[in-house]
Amino acid sequence: MEKNEIITLDITDITNEGFGFGKYNGMAVFVPLTAIGDRISAKVVKVNKSYAYAKIEQLLLPSPDRIENNCPAFGKCGGCAFRHISYEAELRAKESFVKDAFVKIGGLNTEFLPIMPSDDIDRYRNKLEMPVGVNAEGEMYCGFYAQRSHRIIPVSDCLLQPEIFSEISRFIVQKAKALKISAYNEERHEGVLRHIYLRKAVNKRDGGLCCVIVAKRNVPEFKRLAREITAQFPEITGVVLNINPERTNVILGEKEILLCGKSEISDEMCGVPVVISPKAFYQVNTKAAEKIYRKAEEFAEIDKPDGKVILDLYCGAGTIGLSMAKKAGKIIGVEVIPEAVENAKANAEKFGISNAEFICADAGEIDKLKLSGKPDVILLDPPRKGCGERTLDFCASLSPARIVMISCNPATAARDCKRLSELGFRVNAVQAFDLFPRTRHVECVILLSRTTQTHIPTSHITHRSI
Ligand code: SAH
Repeated sequence: MEKNEIITLDITDITNEGFGFGKYNGMAVFVPLTAIGDRISAKVVKVNKSYAYAKIEQLLLPSPDRIENNCPAFGKCGGCAFRHISYEAELRAKESFVKDAFVKIGGLNTEFLPIMPSDDIDRYRNKLEMPVGVNAEGEMYCGFYAQRSHRIIPVSDCLLQPEIFSEISRFIVQKAKALKISAYNEERHEGVLRHIYLRKAVNKRDGGLCCVIVAKRNVPEFKRLAREITAQFPEITGVVLNINPERTNVILGEKEILLCGKSEISDEMCGVPVVISPKAFYQVNTKAAEKIYRKAEEFAEIDKPDGKVILDLYCGAGTIGLSMAKKAGKIIGVEVIPEAVENAKANAEKFGISNAEFICADAGEIDKLKLSGKPDVILLDPPRKGCGERTLDFCASLSPARIVMISCNPATAARDCKRLSELGFRVNAVQAFDLFPRTRHVECVILLSRTTQTHIPTSHITHRSI
């Protein structure tokens, strides 16, 4: 096979990157924006030793999974991977991503429960993060990065976002231009306005946050911009200026200035009132995340009046642990972002919970902590990179009856579950949840139970009450 060669290909599978996949003369060929069942004519764009990339030239025979794409930015913007196939086909693909990861990476044979769909397929996000740039004509615009790039694709109305977010982001760009605020240029590390970040409450009607991320402080125009935003959009209850002067891919900087209103949003998840700061993690598809929390509670089997101790590792603003707190004996939450820990403590108080404590610590060094009880259940909800071995080894050494893992990356979840299976835990069940319809991302919830009695390092546990 050679570059620029035109080949006829049958697409037989979809990779977890969202690429269609077929074999041509024994060679694996990946083609974006194709569907299982497509017969295509494709142009080879890159050839490696055992695989190649191609792009679609002509759809010779369309797959029955195909639907009409309804977003003009699809295929350019790095956000969605599946606007060209039905939601049912997307769910089947995601179910197989999770299964493949556990079988191939984890070598784990277990029960795979059917994937849980999201109620909303579009407009389900409660958070928008849009980079701001300048086009060839020198005009400021906002959009989303192309896949694996920092080229900003202009998007005026993202279908994953509530319409109000599109209105607000368009308004901010228009006002920023009028106020002569410059857009940040990443390559030259010049200019001011970097990102627009919006968040909204879903289960409560109050609470909309607007955060503008800038490269420099002391830009007086932002006070005026904040006033104009809140005058135009009463849904916005606070405007925050976040200052990020670094050359970095990280969106938020350290320093925050409250320009008007409140800096947090107030929402409710699984009946728990939650206050969330801009720097604290908050599940972006609230309704689908509530289904995950309920599944985690079922897996944790805490609905028994025996006062279980739950260690909620990577707890964020405490949402998941607090959703179980009224049925549990004690919740111990651990989280590395100080603002999220403060939110978790305030959320517990607001909920009238006195059996929860939250510790600001790195889960990678959890073995340095003194825990106030021996956990019966450990909840693990790590970021994409998963848990480190040191964390897993320590969790296993605490010998909980159950571990419930929630993961946004099936590959690292499978790797971590494999490790736990070597440490005396059995993977009982895995369920995929679609938290991010139309994108390639998939979440999963895993139940592990202890099969062997391990040595408990009592030196790490104090029995003081909280
Ligand atoms: N369980 C929470 C948050 C899950 S997201 C919820 O459902 O909302 C993962 C969380 O892990 C984030 O809050 C992130 O700040 C935190 N985190 C990332 N690395 C960490 C580490 N090394 N130690 C502790 N927490 C960490």
